[in-house]
Amino acid sequence: ASLRHMSADAGAAMEKIRVAGLLRTQGLIAGQWVDAYDGKTIEVQNPATGEVLANVSCMGSRETSDAIASAHSTFYSWSKLTASERSKALRKWYDLIISHKEDLALLMTLEQGKPMKEALGEVNYGASFIEYFAEEAKRIYGDIIPPTLSDRRLLPVGVVGAITPWNFPLAMITRKVGPALACGCTVVVKPSEFTPLTALAAADLALQAGIPAGALNVVMGNAPEIGDALLQSTQVRKITFTGSTAVGKKLMAGSANTVKKISLELGGNAPCIVFDDADIDVAVKGSLAAKFRNSGQTCVCANRILVQEGIYEKFASAFIKAVQSLQVGNGLEDSTSQGPLINEAAVEKVEKFINDATSKGANVMLGGKRHNLGMTFYEPTVVGNVSNDMLLFREEVFGPVAPLIPFKTEEEAIHMANDTNAGLAAYIFTKSIPRSWRVSESLEYGLVGVNVGIISTEVAPFGGVKQSGLGREGSKYGVDEYLELKYICMGNLG
Ligand code: NAD
Repeated sequence: ASLRHMSADAGAAMEKIRVAGLLRTQGLIAGQWVDAYDGKTIEVQNPATGEVLANVSCMGSRETSDAIASAHSTFYSWSKLTASERSKALRKWYDLIISHKEDLALLMTLEQGKPMKEALGEVNYGASFIEYFAEEAKRIYGDIIPPTLSDRRLLPVGVVGAITPWNFPLAMITRKVGPALACGCTVVVKPSEFTPLTALAAADLALQAGIPAGALNVVMGNAPEIGDALLQSTQVRKITFTGSTAVGKKLMAGSANTVKKISLELGGNAPCIVFDDADIDVAVKGSLAAKFRNSGQTCVCANRILVQEGIYEKFASAFIKAVQSLQVGNGLEDSTSQGPLINEAAVEKVEKFINDATSKGANVMLGGKRHNLGMTFYEPTVVGNVSNDMLLFREEVFGPVAPLIPFKTEEEAIHMANDTNAGLAAYIFTKSIPRSWRVSESLEYGLVGVNVGIISTEVAPFGGVKQSGLGREGSKYGVDEYLELKYICMGNLG
């Protein structure tokens, strides 16, 4: 179904990025842009059209070993710089990302599909982690224990392997690389093969900012081979991963052999609970943003909208009206508020979930089929009367489908919300202050939004409980993942 040629819009956008010097297609090892050693490449496609945007190096274990060696040899110099020197380089990187905001957003829309407005939002959000950790770099130290002058010191863990997904091509990288570099670690990044262009452009800007050659390396291509090389290396001391729960579990098992630290940001299954006493406009606006942003392809997506029976009909009709206002189209067009899904396999997964739900008694209230733009586009969809035996309740649909689930009591809602192995984000809508505290505390989730649909910022500790992951990104806790605590016990020096 690929068009195999570039549309006028995409061609002009790619040319703009090339002129800006940000169209990189090779890996970055020791400060050099390099081809795969066997010359292999893979295609990066525009999910909105199927057109091939670029051919990028398809790397494997040999390139990864060299990237690790480069990160390892740079670790000694980078970690010995003063915090303020590292902070300045990070700050410069932040400034360069912001001054190339348009180019990065265009690249992201082209390779990932999200509307330009969201892509610009992601550039700001992604950059904010670099800015935040540039500041945090200066606050990483231990403490002296009087009267002996013994000390507890915080030291960088060493070389970090960072593996990231396609749904946030920039932010999932900066959330890891910002704190890692701030702590004095060096990094080998493996971006998703679907969205390497944004990652490579960001790495180019890091080099321009004076992040030394070797402190930040990028390899992509054969994911299991690259993953394995990172896991087997004794020089890699830490793996940080964002992606599916299945791959996260493999990486956790694979880290055992060399006893690496690991942090995992995995799948979610967010409940969004709308109580009878909610402000209906706030609840509709919040659930719409939480569900349909990025075509429903976020780990914190409102995956299950639980609605109390007294407000169910009213909420459903107001919500459907809001969903009908979404404009499906190519993310390059100003009017678009919902872009394509990442590929046809993602659409097939959505179709499977819808078939499963309707065969078990759910009713499609809006949408429920492929959009007439074809290929990767799916209609904004609302499904009513979803229950806990359906895939729509049990797993992440990762598409523009909002399941509505009626409930009677607060206890029932909490029980249904917690009835999952995931525990990343949850949302509640209510005007009652006591209820908002009570329910927030009872939800087995790492993040809870009250009367708000978008909750992640650089100051928020982001991460999940249960099988949604280990560790936190962002906030002052974000550096903990990249530090070791060493105790030095001073005897009498006289
Ligand atoms: P994925 O697990 O398929 O891929 C993630 C990354 O892992 C990619 O770079 C991929 O190439 C790589 N990978 C795949 N197999 C590998 C292997 N055997 N060894 C090493 N690396 C391997 O996930 P995805 O489809 O790219 O992303 C979607 C998933 O990510 C969803 O489940 C979503 O919920 C989750 N996610 C979580 C968060 C969070 O912060 N918790 C954020 C964004 C996305």
